[in-house]
Amino acid sequence: MPFVLLNEIEEMKIEFLDKKNYETTADTVLNDALRAADAHKRVRGGIQKLLKPGASLLEIVSAVEDMTRIMLKGEKNNGIGFPCGISINDCAAHYTLNPGEKDIILKESDVLKIDFGVHSNGRIMDSAFTVCFDPKYEMLLKATQEATKRGLEVIGIDMMVSEIGREINEVFKSFEITLNNKTMPIKAIWNLNGHSINQYKIHGGISIPPSNNGDCSRISEGFCAVETFATTGRGEVHEKGECSHYMLKENIGNTKIYSAKNEKILNLIKKEFGTLPFSPRHVEYYEKDSFPAIKLLSLRKFIEPHPPLFDSPGSHVAQFEHTIYLKESGSTIMTDGNDY
Ligand code: FE
Ligand code: FE
Repeated sequence: MPFVLLNEIEEMKIEFLDKKNYETTADTVLNDALRAADAHKRVRGGIQKLLKPGASLLEIVSAVEDMTRIMLKGEKNNGIGFPCGISINDCAAHYTLNPGEKDIILKESDVLKIDFGVHSNGRIMDSAFTVCFDPKYEMLLKATQEATKRGLEVIGIDMMVSEIGREINEVFKSFEITLNNKTMPIKAIWNLNGHSINQYKIHGGISIPPSNNGDCSRISEGFCAVETFATTGRGEVHEKGECSHYMLKENIGNTKIYSAKNEKILNLIKKEFGTLPFSPRHVEYYEKDSFPAIKLLSLRKFIEPHPPLFDSPGSHVAQFEHTIYLKESGSTIMTDGNDY
């Protein structure tokens, strides 16, 4: 059963977003993106009142999914562009709840990153923000917010990605944080990057680093997610824990599946998600008790696992991210809102 916060959804005027209302420009790609971006802003507006100590992360994720499904019904996976990340503290990215997993209650001391994506006709809007309740972490949030803002200011067509990284790095260098009477520099996580986005493909092939890493790739017309991660840890993430983010593999080939159940789930994944990342929760929405099949499909390399990414134990990570549409005639930060 989907989890619907009925009263709140009514209050927020969460309703189907008619495509016609977004046919406002001659650029049909932009029109699709405008619809998805509007949905993103409405969803995050809808969960604001849930974001407080004592909140249930299951309730937050369910609200994001349910609101998206209402607004973008009929799109692939009803407009869900990828799983709703709810990574806490030293977990930087790629964590969400799995079916049957115990709910997590948000604590006063937590630093929570909410990273979710919605799409219309495959135009994915990837945007994230961070919440904390203890003011001692505010500098961490400010550092990534300013760094991401700088990235969005300087990014342009034909620009080298390492040049953008150099600008982002300059911002990080100006921040420090005091924790337990100790002042230390705030670092960027070097191996978490912004990225180009193609239709139905969250990673379009170009990475935008948070420093000058010598990558000479250049930005071209289209969509880019500009994101940075500020940390009190090592500034490097590694994979850890149970996976909740998956994506169909590109070249599956003719490998045989012997179990009818597993084959059914693979076909469901192809049909409902295509190349969009998904979580086992999304599969459960269509087919109960499918998590064992997902794990097996991952082991057999039909689908690609993207496990949670952690910085050093005890560290705190913050993130801000926006999707920008770069065009010769001018660029638009699609997911820019009154909130961030
Ligand atoms: Fe993201
Ligand atoms: Fe991203």
